[in-house]
Amino acid sequence: MSRISSITTHDVRFPTSLELDGSDAVNVDPDYSAAYVIVRTDSGEEGHGFVFTCGRGNDIIVRAIESYASLLVGRDADELVNDLGEASRRLVHDSQLRWLGPEKGVSHMACGAVVSALWDIRARREGKPLWLLLSTMTPEELVDVVDFTHISDALTPAQALDILRAGEAGKADRIAALQANGYPAYTTSPGWLGYSDEKLVRLSREAAAEGFSMIKLKVGGSLADDRRRLRLAREAVGPLPIAIDANQRWDVPDAITWVNELAEFNPYWIEEPTSTDDILGHATIRRGVTPVRVATGEAVANRIVFKQLLQAGAIDVLQLDSTRVAGVNENIANILLAARFGVPVCPHAGGVGLCELVQHFSFFDYAAVTGTQEGRMIEYVDHLHEHFAEPVRIVGGRYAAPQRPGTGAEMLTASRERWEFPSGAGWLEVGGRAAVSASQATVVGQR
Ligand SMILES: [Mg+2]
Repeated sequence: MSRISSITTHDVRFPTSLELDGSDAVNVDPDYSAAYVIVRTDSGEEGHGFVFTCGRGNDIIVRAIESYASLLVGRDADELVNDLGEASRRLVHDSQLRWLGPEKGVSHMACGAVVSALWDIRARREGKPLWLLLSTMTPEELVDVVDFTHISDALTPAQALDILRAGEAGKADRIAALQANGYPAYTTSPGWLGYSDEKLVRLSREAAAEGFSMIKLKVGGSLADDRRRLRLAREAVGPLPIAIDANQRWDVPDAITWVNELAEFNPYWIEEPTSTDDILGHATIRRGVTPVRVATGEAVANRIVFKQLLQAGAIDVLQLDSTRVAGVNENIANILLAARFGVPVCPHAGGVGLCELVQHFSFFDYAAVTGTQEGRMIEYVDHLHEHFAEPVRIVGGRYAAPQRPGTGAEMLTASRERWEFPSGAGWLEVGGRAAVSASQATVVGQR
């Protein structure tokens, strides 16, 4: 028997605000960060997980991860890893920690990092990348890891089982197709608000030439700028789909007006038009901007909000995120909910490491759940991949199938140490130039 011997955390931040990579109408100066956790067993195994944040506050999630981790140290690792449904439920529904949510925000995200680190151990034990582990689990095993609490009015275990059993037909062929051809990607790299017109046009052209299925532009700063940038992008990519993303910038009436002002550029979807909690607002916006699709999900707190967005007919595209919810289990629930309502999943990615993580869910969706790539693609942003043990590979505008056993979360030790905040060598070199600086941290007296 092996036991969980230690759980260590790291506050890892990258000074992306120096280049305005990742800048949008709301996130004007992000320093892409990972609240990172390593779960170790006394037989020498490691499981890695993290939560993505935009910088400040990463330390808060690290502390929350430590609170969840303390529930696992000393416990039987085999019991946890062999019954990930029960392991997840224990953490998510901890009777004291759940007060901080329940099932939303800092505590939920922290819980997800720990849950996913356990999945990382499981996938490594089985010698499979997460997508292939999930795709080769039986429908019964998959249903067993899903928490149906508060979603059973929309999706029962029996209905989930039906979806997964239907997904068994042709699964081996689809796994082979994924290994050979990967999965479609779209890119957000050209469209950050902080980029010049020249950079926008150059990157848009490059994206089209590289074979991406779509590009995405950030909008919502100024209507005149949005019109100019969309016109330039449309000229650069021709008929290639262009999505727009407002990062929750607008109130409901403004969203409808603004999107209709941009309708002549034929946006494929409007992403996060308003508050991510406003389910009925999304439904109203969807009615007001049709035929432009409405997409959201990267900041949706849990499966219960996704359920309501689907029940209310509020979204055309479900953008699950790998570190916003409570890890692998809850994202399986979100994928099954989307399948139940016939809404395509186009995951959110970017940040640091989100591409590495989230690709596994789309591969699983295709292999074992919906069996289709129609109207589906994974977001791609070309930043910070070099810090990971298995960086994503894009071939001809598609994600190539990850091969390394695990969830994809493992960051290189050298990167983790260099960018540990605020004491890593990288941060000492950056000094006060990034949006978050090591000197501020010292003044505030952070850990
Ligand atoms: Mg977005």
